[in-house]
Amino acid sequence: MFMFREKPYSSWVNVMLQQQTTTTIVVFGVVLWLIFIIAFFVLGLLLCIWVYRDAQKRGMNGALWLIIVLVGNVIGLLVYLIVREPEKTYTLTVRYCKYCGNPMTPDAKFCPKCGKEQL
Ligand SMILES: [Zn+2]
Repeated sequence: MFMFREKPYSSWVNVMLQQQTTTTIVVFGVVLWLIFIIAFFVLGLLLCIWVYRDAQKRGMNGALWLIIVLVGNVIGLLVYLIVREPEKTYTLTVRYCKYCGNPMTPDAKFCPKCGKEQL
């Protein structure tokens, strides 16, 4: 009789504990999910800022590429990475022809306008 009474009580406690554990798991899952969403959002935001700055640095339209990446997401980013212009690491110096004053690239040996050799 005593044992019979004891059993339902302990099983009730077990159910309570199980419910608590289930609730903890659910809460933990939701929190984890929220962290994941926030992290994803922050990463996306950082990516957008990076694309904007990178595009501006390369003399491209930063705002336009920002919109493309926002709309196209991964595809937009891939398109950007493919079509983006190479970073200008050298300073472009313009040379002028000694004979006719035509602007030329610094490595040109002959003037493209008058054809005279540059020394
Ligand atoms: Zn020339």
